[in-house]
Amino acid sequence: MKLRFGMVGGGEGSMIGPVHRLAAQHSGEAELVCGAFSSTPDRSYRSGQRLYQLAAHRCYASYSDMFAKEAALPADKRMNFVVIATPNHLHFPVAMAALAAGFHVVCDKPLTHDFNQAQLLRRRVLDSGLQFAVTYNYSGYAMLQEARDLVSRGSFGSLRRISCEYLQGWLAVDMRTNKQAQWRTDPVRAGSAGCFGDIGSHGYHLMEYVSGLPVTWVCADLSKHVPGRQLDDDGNVLLRFAGGAKGVLSASQVAAGEDNDIQIKVFGELGGFSWRLGEPDILNVRWLSEPNEVRRAKNDAELAPKRSIAGAPDGYLDAFAEIYRRFFAQLKGESHRGFPTIEEGVRGMQFLAAVVRSDEQGATWQPL
Ligand code: NAD
Repeated sequence: MKLRFGMVGGGEGSMIGPVHRLAAQHSGEAELVCGAFSSTPDRSYRSGQRLYQLAAHRCYASYSDMFAKEAALPADKRMNFVVIATPNHLHFPVAMAALAAGFHVVCDKPLTHDFNQAQLLRRRVLDSGLQFAVTYNYSGYAMLQEARDLVSRGSFGSLRRISCEYLQGWLAVDMRTNKQAQWRTDPVRAGSAGCFGDIGSHGYHLMEYVSGLPVTWVCADLSKHVPGRQLDDDGNVLLRFAGGAKGVLSASQVAAGEDNDIQIKVFGELGGFSWRLGEPDILNVRWLSEPNEVRRAKNDAELAPKRSIAGAPDGYLDAFAEIYRRFFAQLKGESHRGFPTIEEGVRGMQFLAAVVRSDEQGATWQPL
């Protein structure tokens, strides 16, 4: 039987809601059955019925209404988990309400508005015994899993250098009339980090994910290039990792002309690898004393995320779906490779707090 899920946010015109729906349904293991898709009841009803073809009685005016009514349904009808795809400031109240009503949660990043909320949420998740996934979707790419496996087997020896660059250009000009830009550039709705909260958070997660090493110290230099902007739109962060590796994370949303590109490079004593979103099925592996290799994902649905969606990079949908597949395996009690949990979400918020603090204090080193 399919898992049933509801969505909060993701209404008509939203960026990531339809991706969640497609990614979750991709494996055929789950279906969207209900939602509170917008901040206004009319838009929520319209989105549910027109965008997602749901029955009117499963389209709710608000998330609190949805949790109360779904919890009252018979067990074989009610949703099993909820997907949170709202602006950042709503992740915390919606997730807390979902857990209180007994629903597992899939929440988009960054986990919460601030680190304090993240810690409170983690306590609630642990107390509830419910599952909680955070959609750091780039870790769903097969060749990054391959890279992580190479690192964890010690193939590159002790790691020395870990760098990641995530560039976008869509905020290179004032975008105050754009819905997605409005909340992302507003500290009340986005949190204290702008570009770093939005995309630097992905880069940070990937760096820890592939290296298996926690970041221990950060030193950040953030910028607000567009006049009037209240949050960072570009920045560079020096990083120290447990075990002695060092690195740098650069992120920008004002790289004029750049669409959406993330790349990561890791080097140890014996070799290293590089990967970029533009060619997600390729892992360039370098060796100190052997010929370099180009590893390609096998042409197999499990290993080669290729299918995509309009406007998104190659394989985006399949990598996103991989996070869901792992989450479903956990819900069903099957073996699985693990998915980004509340712990990674909390660490992401701790990282952002340290980055902002470092920048505010004149690019000083801050511990995590
Ligand atoms: P968006 O502005 O396009 O959509 C937000 C949606 O939330 C809208 O449909 C809006 O009506 C709805 N909403 C607002 N208040 C609501 C409320 N009280 N109740 C119910 N719905 C409400 O935003 P987006 O770009 O889709 O981003 C949403 C979240 O997804 C953000 O946290 C963002 O960081 C994250 N995101 C993640 C990725 C990724 O790669 N994982 C990509 C894009 C966005």
